[in-house]
Amino acid sequence: MEKSKVLVVGGTGYIGKRIVKASLAQGHTTYVLHRREIGCTSDIDKLQMLLSFKEAGARLVEASFDDHRSLVDAVKQVDVVICTMSGVHFRSHNILQQLKLIEAIKEAGNIKRFVPSEFGMDPARMGNAMEAGRVTFDEKMEIRKAIEEANIPHTYISANCFAAYFCVIYMDEDDVAAYTVKCIDDPRTLNKTVYLRPQQNILTQRELIAKWENLKGIELQKITVTADEFLASMKDMDFVRQVGVIFYYHIFYEGCLTNFEIGDDGEEASQLYPEVHYTRMDEYLKRYL
Ligand code: NDP
Repeated sequence: MEKSKVLVVGGTGYIGKRIVKASLAQGHTTYVLHRREIGCTSDIDKLQMLLSFKEAGARLVEASFDDHRSLVDAVKQVDVVICTMSGVHFRSHNILQQLKLIEAIKEAGNIKRFVPSEFGMDPARMGNAMEAGRVTFDEKMEIRKAIEEANIPHTYISANCFAAYFCVIYMDEDDVAAYTVKCIDDPRTLNKTVYLRPQQNILTQRELIAKWENLKGIELQKITVTADEFLASMKDMDFVRQVGVIFYYHIFYEGCLTNFEIGDDGEEASQLYPEVHYTRMDEYLKRYL
């Protein structure tokens, strides 16, 4: 089967750069959106990263979120769009930026698969999330609604916790990228949510800590904090830290990543792609020794 042409939007970001790498590694002709605005900044690191993508075989496509026609033209060059735009940049001038991309995809009419910027907890299951954290889920649901109303073929990636990001290990970020790119040409994942839930990386915090203790040959001192004490700790924090506390609460106290069975509208990545040797947490933790 001929490989799809892929456009990565947000390619210089934390997960985006890994998606670019995985897309190239899996043999896709890979395009990276070069936001016109970047060309005018002094963000040398970003420009250098874009150039390194080019050296690795990617094609850069210049466009701007403030220029609808340029987005349509970019989208028309490919079959698949993967958006990895930052959570904090979703809204600009009170507009969800991804809605502009969806408008362009709708007009272009050629996209076989759109993967929006999700890569976290499944927002459809976070209707009861607490304030501070819940805005992320509400916005991701707004994006889903627009995608489904426009009948855009899609896959939602529920990647659980990026290991380094959370300092609590579940998914190696490169594995998140590899599974995401595997999904884009797979009819089994069309219009579904794909959960990244490899069996050996489902760990309680105690199990994870035991692995670290084992590797270091030490025993850490542990204290127990009740859910109420934990939530009370955010009283004097700024908004961003409060969001973090709420995410941790839902993940660690509520168990929202694993307290449900995957239904008919979902698939599990490690079962779909057993050929991917996902990184086990013992291996991952060794990087920090
Ligand atoms: P980053 O903060 O690294 O940013 C990603 C990219 O967004 C940037 O590199 C930039 O790409 C693009 N961007 C920035 N500003 C704008 C703008 N104004 N308009 C358009 N694009 C912009 O994002 P992450 O990789 O941290 O997050 C990506 C997704 O992953 C989010 O949905 C987030 O919620 C999720 N996530 C999940 C985590 C988990 O543990 N499961 C942890 C962290 C994030 P460029 O300049 O190349 O256009």
